[in-house]
Amino acid sequence: MIQLRDYQERVLDDITYEFNQGKNKICATMPCGAGKTILSGWMARGTALKNRRVIFMVHRQELIEQTSETFTAMNINHGIIATGAPKDYDKLVQVASVQTLVKRLKDIHPPDFIICDECHHVVANTYRKIIDNYPNLKVLGVTATPERLGGHGLGDVFESLVIGPTVKELISWGNLSDYQYYAPPAKFNADEVRVKFGEFVKSDLEVQLDNNAVVGDIIMNYKKLADGMRAICYCVNRKHSEHIAKSFNDAGIPAIHVDGETHKSVRTQAIKDFRDNKIKILCNAELFGEGFDVPAMEAVILARPTQSLTLFIQQAMRAMRPDPNNKNKKAVIIDHVGNCFRHGMPDEDREWTLEPKKKKHTGERTLSVKTCPQCFSAHYSNTRQCPCCGFVYPIAVREEMPEQKKGELIKIEEIERKIKRQEVGKARSIKELEMIAIKRGYSMRWVSRMAKIKGIRRLG
Ligand SMILES: [Zn+2]
Repeated sequence: MIQLRDYQERVLDDITYEFNQGKNKICATMPCGAGKTILSGWMARGTALKNRRVIFMVHRQELIEQTSETFTAMNINHGIIATGAPKDYDKLVQVASVQTLVKRLKDIHPPDFIICDECHHVVANTYRKIIDNYPNLKVLGVTATPERLGGHGLGDVFESLVIGPTVKELISWGNLSDYQYYAPPAKFNADEVRVKFGEFVKSDLEVQLDNNAVVGDIIMNYKKLADGMRAICYCVNRKHSEHIAKSFNDAGIPAIHVDGETHKSVRTQAIKDFRDNKIKILCNAELFGEGFDVPAMEAVILARPTQSLTLFIQQAMRAMRPDPNNKNKKAVIIDHVGNCFRHGMPDEDREWTLEPKKKKHTGERTLSVKTCPQCFSAHYSNTRQCPCCGFVYPIAVREEMPEQKKGELIKIEEIERKIKRQEVGKARSIKELEMIAIKRGYSMRWVSRMAKIKGIRRLG
């Protein structure tokens, strides 16, 4: 019998409260590893017990199987709506692929409730078509990163945002393993790469990154920083991924490239060999993102720059699942492409908001991370000393940090973030907290919790 963890109960309470307030579209933030599927299964079961219909909607075929397994482990009787799966529409709980569901809206019983996994995709047409098809539908969206590429909030779909636990909290409670982040000097210049639809153009990335010098660095740094660990390496495309896998093999480190077109039996064997420690490195372009979890995986190699905070978080945190056999596990992240300078550290506290406003494209947008020149560990900038090796930064080196040259845009963004943080810090009354909550679309439950943390009492 699977029980909810305390923080999952708390998130469940907050979601229920929002629905009871008459809201129909709620978004809940849950970091990777916080147990979104379990919480969703819990809610799906509760809905079915009231004899109502619920669909858990995922956007990739691979996630159907995984969700179905979790639901089965939770004794949730469910049908599956996906290409190739037998139709069983009478079951109250359905696990559905978005692509299949949108084509079968006429065939299925209208749902009372839809839980939308990875709901940062929700603004896409297929999702809107499904949701808009049922006027009184209740929708819960769950995601680790409630924003779209380019930083837009999801306020055009959701009415309220429930803030789940933070990555820092999950690490401190042991629900995620701690990590060591390295950002060795990158042979990659983002200024020379075109950006289309908010993301780097892959052919440009390939030109810069698929060469022996860059790939050689990846092998060298793996040996230096993560030797012997099982790692996933995220690459630009198939050719790049195959090149890296071959170079690892040539260096005597067993590696394999796997992608969506790899035959299923080969893929399954590769994952099995990885679990059995016969393969050390799994190279891929985007295959092992959302939902791929191997507890014994200890390292992640980032060889593909991205503008997407969602993709960055999913890839960087992939090795942070705790290992029951290794209580002291510390995941190693080796970032060869400076993603941490664009997006910050994986456990950075982020000020989520439903506000749909567009942020300016600022390229390397954060000042909060720097790399130690001695050990390459990446860490927050607000320290004079490297927390990993103890290196003391001379003032001159600090001034030469490359991200400081990036000019005014970065400063503005940093100031904006600071103001947002200060907003909460400066709030002295329930009223002020409420104003912040309304502006950002937070649940009013957030107000009472924040008031409690800050020791503010309701007057009268
Ligand atoms: Zn250091």
